[in-house]
Amino acid sequence: MKMRTILAGLAATVVALSSPLAASAQDKGTIGIAMPTKSSARWIADGDNMVKQFEAAGYGANLQYAEDDIPNQVNQVENMITTGVKALVIAAIDGTTLSNTLANAAAAGIPVIAYDRLIRDSGDVDYYATFDNFQVGVQQAESLVDGLKERFPDQDSWNVELFGGSPDDNNAYFFYNGAMSVLQPLIDEGKIKIPSGQMGMDKVGTLRWDGSVAQARMDNLLSANYTGDQKVNGVLSPYDGLSIGIISSLKGVGYGSGDLDMPIITGQDAEVPSVKAILRGDQYSTIFKDTRELAKVTVQMVDAVLQEKEPEVNDTKTYDNGVKVVPSYLLKPVLVTKDNWEKVLVESGYYKEDQIK
Ligand code: BGC
Repeated sequence: MKMRTILAGLAATVVALSSPLAASAQDKGTIGIAMPTKSSARWIADGDNMVKQFEAAGYGANLQYAEDDIPNQVNQVENMITTGVKALVIAAIDGTTLSNTLANAAAAGIPVIAYDRLIRDSGDVDYYATFDNFQVGVQQAESLVDGLKERFPDQDSWNVELFGGSPDDNNAYFFYNGAMSVLQPLIDEGKIKIPSGQMGMDKVGTLRWDGSVAQARMDNLLSANYTGDQKVNGVLSPYDGLSIGIISSLKGVGYGSGDLDMPIITGQDAEVPSVKAILRGDQYSTIFKDTRELAKVTVQMVDAVLQEKEPEVNDTKTYDNGVKVVPSYLLKPVLVTKDNWEKVLVESGYYKEDQIK
């Protein structure tokens, strides 16, 4: 047999084998997935998990990242609408900037799922898939207090500074309020002191969840409030990327070396560099939010809506977006410390041990 004939035969076999599969992956249409940024590993995992699971459920996926640029995200979603996606799944950069775009989606009959972050000021958000965001804040603050007791057992009171997430992200308020539900009574009792006096999301928010902004603010807090003998014992940080900046700032003035203890620092997302920081003792805790589970809930929601069935939700009260209360499915966040990281992150198959150690 001539080489060309063999190749032609092979090509035909490949087409015959792959086309039914390729066709079935697209059969139910394409889902538009708009994610905020690739600068944080969690959103990459969210996107990858959704693509995998949508394809397994018979959909195609158009996944786009907007690198934290609001007009970019608006354009990406507009394009998805124009190309005729069956549904939109959006983790918004700024939860208030999509109202016009979503009105276009609604006019085209495209359902919208808010993913992880609530989309505000729009009646055109159908469902919301997320974690219990208030509980994230509660867990962060509880672990902060546990850490303070463990590392500074002999002090009558502890010096703490507070960081919040991005003020354009609805989640940031839930994290902060959850944390303050634990910390405020201790502040009132005098057990926790905030030497800078900076409290409230208007003072402690960190635009775009930017670690370098957090680092600069920590530098300022240290130079303005921690001269002489006054030392910081704890920092409430709502996200691993901020914790990295906060830790660098603290190390820059000698915390974590000699007899100057590292403060207790919290986090969120269980990103690899931060789990490593927990093992080194630089960070105390983080919050694991299993993006595989969030993808699963989202795919089920989309599939149900497109089949005109009721998606499963477990909260119809909490998430008022300014126009409507968006029916939501809340997953449970899990606190991670040096004591349980292997069980939570490795035994569950989320990471391999050698990614961390
Ligand atoms: C997410 C967090 C994440 C933060 C920064 C929030 O909306 O819920 O998991 O740490 O954004 O990306």
